[in-house]
Formats: sequence, C-alpha cells, structure tokens
Amino acid sequence: MSAPHPTAPRPAARHLTASTDDRIVYDLTGVERQYDSLRAELPGADIRFALKACPVDEVLRCLAARGAGFDAASPAEIAQALRTGVPVDRVHYGNTVKSDHDIAAAHRLGVRTFATDSAEDVTAIARYAPGARVFCRLATSGEGALWGLNRKFGCAPGDAVRVLATARAAALTPAGLSVHVGSQQMTGEAWQQAFDTLAGTLTELAAHGIVPDHVNLGGGLPALGYRDRRGNALEPPLDKILTVLREGVERLRGLTPAPLDVVLEPGRHLVADHGVVHAHVSRLTRRRQPDGTCAHWLYLSCGKYNGLYEMDQVTHRFVFPGRSETEDHVPAIVAGPTCDSDDAYGGGRHPVRVPRALASGDPVRILSAGAYATSYMTQGFNGIHPLPAVCTRGTAGLTDPRRTALT
Ligand SMILES: *Cc1c(COP(=O)(O)O)cnc(C)c1O
Repeated sequence: MSAPHPTAPRPAARHLTASTDDRIVYDLTGVERQYDSLRAELPGADIRFALKACPVDEVLRCLAARGAGFDAASPAEIAQALRTGVPVDRVHYGNTVKSDHDIAAAHRLGVRTFATDSAEDVTAIARYAPGARVFCRLATSGEGALWGLNRKFGCAPGDAVRVLATARAAALTPAGLSVHVGSQQMTGEAWQQAFDTLAGTLTELAAHGIVPDHVNLGGGLPALGYRDRRGNALEPPLDKILTVLREGVERLRGLTPAPLDVVLEPGRHLVADHGVVHAHVSRLTRRRQPDGTCAHWLYLSCGKYNGLYEMDQVTHRFVFPGRSETEDHVPAIVAGPTCDSDDAYGGGRHPVRVPRALASGDPVRILSAGAYATSYMTQGFNGIHPLPAVCTRGTAGLTDPRRTALT
C-alpha cells in the first residue's frame, strides 16, 4: 500500500460520503403552528391545503389531524388526500382542467365539489358527476405575485354568471366563486381587487337568482423567509394582507342574502418556512467571466432539478454549519449540480456572501425550502436522484424565518 502524497491532504471521510445523505427535512411542529396561526387570524375559514405544495404523506396526515381539508388537482391527489383519513367532504377538485375520465374517477372516489371555469367543463361534470356542487373560478391579473397563475384559468365576471347558470340548468348546484391572486402574492391590493371582482360577480349572480353558499379565496399567501434574487429579504406584508382578507369577507357577507362560507387553499404559506434542505458543497470556484470580471461560483449538491425548482425567482437563506459570520466571506453566485445553466440562483447573475473557506463536502442548510420542493423534482436528471423527504419535530428554531443567528 503506498503512502498518500505528502502534500495532498487526506480528505476527511465525511467529505467523500457527504452528498449521499442529502434530504429535505420538514418540521411537523412548525407546519402545525403555521396552520393554527392562520386559523386564529381568519376564524371560521375552512382551510384546504393545496396538495401540490407538499405531497408528503406525513405532512398531509398532520394537517388532516388538525382539521384541514385538501384542494386536490387530480384523481391521484384526491386518493393521496383520502389516505390521510380526511373525510371526503373536506376534499374538493380544485383544478379547472380535467378530462371526462378525471371527473368520473373523482366522483367514484366520493368527491362532490368541483372547480370550473367553462360551460364545456360544466357539461362534463353534469354527465360524470351528476348533482355535484361547482364553484366558478374568476380570472385575476396575477400582478404583485412572484408566480402569476393568470390567463390559463378563470373567467370574466359575465362569463361566470353564464357558467353557473349553465350549471343550474344541468341540475348541478352553483355553489360558489373562487379566485387565486397568484402564488407568493406580495400586495394587499391584489386581494382588494379580487374582492372587488367577487363582490361585483355576487351581485350580478343575485340578479339572476343564483346565491352561492361560499367563496373560495384560493392560495397565494406568502412564505415569510424568502429572499429576492439579490439575496435581500422579501418581507411580504402578511398582516396587511390578512386585514384585507378579513375586511373583504365582511364586505361580501354584507351583500349576499344567505350565509356565506369562506374557503382558503393555502399551499406555500403552510409549508415553505418549515422545510429545510440538507445539502453539501460541491465546490467553490473562481473564474474569469466572459465580460472579463472575476466571479466566485458556489456549486451545491442541490439545485433546480432536485428540490429548488423556484431558484430562478427566489433565493434562500443558507446556513453553513461550523462556519461563522466573522470569518472571511466572498461574493459568490450559487448554483446547483447539473449540466444545465438554468440550475442557478437568480439566473446566475447575483452573488451572495459565502464563507471563503468552503470546501467540497461541507454541509449546507437551505432554509424556507419546503414549498414545491418534493413535487417539482426531476427523476434522475444527470443521474441525480430526487431528495428524500424526512419529517421531524422540534427543529422549529432552525426553520423560523425570523431568526437570524443560525449556525
Ligand atoms: C397551487 C394552487 C394553490 C396554492 O397556491 P399557493 O400560492 O401555494 O398558496 C391553491 N389553489 C389552487 C387552485 C392552486 O392551483
């Protein structure tokens, strides 16, 4: 056996095995607290978690046990929701896009409430889920949100009246109206506009003798711990948004003749700040860029295709265990491990401060990474496996987005 070369430091064993234990860790206590605090802010609202934000059975079970229902977007999501033991009347089919087959499958699973936004879809629901309750999604501009969700869904107010009248004529129950103001909505004004649209449509519906029993305010409530592309805290005005929601609901209740229930479909808001990615440093490098400047690049074992799909829009806070704030830092562009140039924070343009001494195999925690992580993961892109999800309790301190000292 030959001795190691005297100048080559022998790598610590952990550096050679490190990236095999990458994972995303959900703090169930944090998710429960988030749910409880939303319930306290909006008493009486029926909270239906949008499954796609975190289709992890243990997380869903803990929400169901707390009293949450589910906004499901396909028969497979409905089946997953039902596996939590949630009563089927707390699950609705919230996707306006569905085939005849999807509608029939959902109906067989016991779902009786469907989102819609077209007469064509209503006709199919009447045929494959006879007698069901439908709620009509209204279009929003998506302005003020990081992800707009506009154009593809929702109808104009006049069309909503036509769609719900079609439902009534087809012996369905025209049960409600819905909106989605766009995901990670950063403004109270967007909600205000949504309430204006809802109010106008409820009034118009009443003139046609249609009195919905609920409004569904959709998702869009923000995560608190994100940073923008330049690494600055986003600081969404959550308190203001919640005030707009409470006042908006009161206003709608004041103008309809019957009791009006309120449904919310938060996704991101309930889970984002309670999921932490445990990953590793692949390498910190320094290279001259095409424009002649020198840049550091920090490559991590986790990126856009294995857990951080939204890294082009938001950045996350990093914790490098064992490193301190006082040691030497350099500005580095942070990127994932694949051979795809989209696999980088902020389009690979915005450096953030990282410790200069970072070495291959060093651990990194990526905070507020719990939303849309497990659902937006590719299968073996460049041979990189999806991150396993692990649920724990009691690491709440690490996932609290308002805490600053984290090493
Ligand atoms: C994705 C989605 C949600 C959840 O959106 P968030 O912005 O994560 O809260 C809610 N409702 C519908 C219909 C959705 O498609």
